[in-house]
Amino acid sequence: MATQTTLIRHGTVVTAIDEFSADILVKDGRIAQVGTNLDDPDTNTVVEARGMYVLPGGVDIHTHLATPGGNGFSTADDYFTGHRAAAFGGTTTVLSFADQWKGATMRQTLDTWHAKARDKAAVDYGFHLMVTDCNDAVLDELAEFRSWGVNTVKLMMAYKGRAMVDDAVILRVMQRCKELGLLTMVHCENGDAIDVLQRQAVANGQTAPIFHALTRPPQLEAEATERAIQLAQTAGGAPLFVVHCTHSGALEAVVRARARGESVTAETCIHYLSLTKDRLRGAPGDAFEGAKYVCSPPLREEADIAALWRGLHTGDLHSVSTDHCPWRFDIHKSLGRQDFTKIPNGAPAIEERLMLLWNDGVNTGRITRSQFVALVSTEPAKLFGMPNKGSLTVGNDADIVLWDPAATHTISAETNHGAMDYSMFEGRIVTGMPALVMSRGEVLVKGAEWLGKPGRGVFQHRNSKV
Ligand SMILES: [Zn+2]
Repeated sequence: MATQTTLIRHGTVVTAIDEFSADILVKDGRIAQVGTNLDDPDTNTVVEARGMYVLPGGVDIHTHLATPGGNGFSTADDYFTGHRAAAFGGTTTVLSFADQWKGATMRQTLDTWHAKARDKAAVDYGFHLMVTDCNDAVLDELAEFRSWGVNTVKLMMAYKGRAMVDDAVILRVMQRCKELGLLTMVHCENGDAIDVLQRQAVANGQTAPIFHALTRPPQLEAEATERAIQLAQTAGGAPLFVVHCTHSGALEAVVRARARGESVTAETCIHYLSLTKDRLRGAPGDAFEGAKYVCSPPLREEADIAALWRGLHTGDLHSVSTDHCPWRFDIHKSLGRQDFTKIPNGAPAIEERLMLLWNDGVNTGRITRSQFVALVSTEPAKLFGMPNKGSLTVGNDADIVLWDPAATHTISAETNHGAMDYSMFEGRIVTGMPALVMSRGEVLVKGAEWLGKPGRGVFQHRNSKV
């Protein structure tokens, strides 16, 4: 087989710590050389990158693809449409949740998710196993996770009666994770208290989407975040990753734990950095439009947005992910027209993530280009056990984005590349977007053109000890 050799010339390479002018030579899917005036007689393709930033492909560690919602439907994007949308946005590695269903073993769970992904994946991918029905056999199975290529376990403190687990389960799973070198990812909201508030709201006829936010007040996220942190300490200092931190009080709990030297890391998600809970009030004369913004934890206040940006700047938040959980407005969100508790929770952002963080973060001077690269690629890759991703280092996978900082784009569901019928960011004009996206040396996206194919994505065997 002829070797594929690509030379990317005259770009400005941005890493998580610096930037410099360089050429990159890609051979057989890997980065072979980084330097100036590179030349290789085997080169079959030359890519001119003058005026472009050359970035490592984005890594989105929080997505829900082809995931049943307990409402007879699964999330709209499968492993092809979701991955294609991700690639158009500059993301080349996607980790998704594999949710255990009642009575399933963890091995059955993982096999089921592998089957969903195998023939469809268009970018490289991996899974976090979500424990929802814990017993001694499941605790035993945790010992196998790393050999299965999964070093992360997800637990839900919310969604009572469905995915929620109690403190006893959290503690026992964390104890095992500490012992086995696994990372526990926790959705921190007090599900018992939310359940009470939701029932009271519905009984009072408060059924519009805004009550989704009002029955999940921020202190219930702060309380649960603190509780997860203390349970992790009780489990002997189990490494904890706080998913989708949205609230200043929750972030403060993370900052305090980190200041004590505890092994606590956290992410926020892109929508929490610009949208407030007022969106859930909907459009004038159409309160149900607010359903498009129903996700958990809910959107918060301007003060929280400011706190999250500070957290990105100070390094207390380690990833900007999406929590891409695509429920269409026409068929899925509509289930909750009479009752907000029936609106499927979650919203799409897998394609918009990098463009929005660049536009709102880099273009405004809130974060540097290097911080941008760290947050969307380098840190999540390293934290989640993918040493061959997230940096343009010799020997790494050639997952490369040519980023055009001058290009402008109007975000719209019409032109997005997933299976969704709305965008939370409809009409937003952003400056800076991918011009070319490469995964292991193969061009997936060139301008508006899709060159990828289903089934080419490779499962990332994440077996390192956390
Ligand atoms: Zn999620």
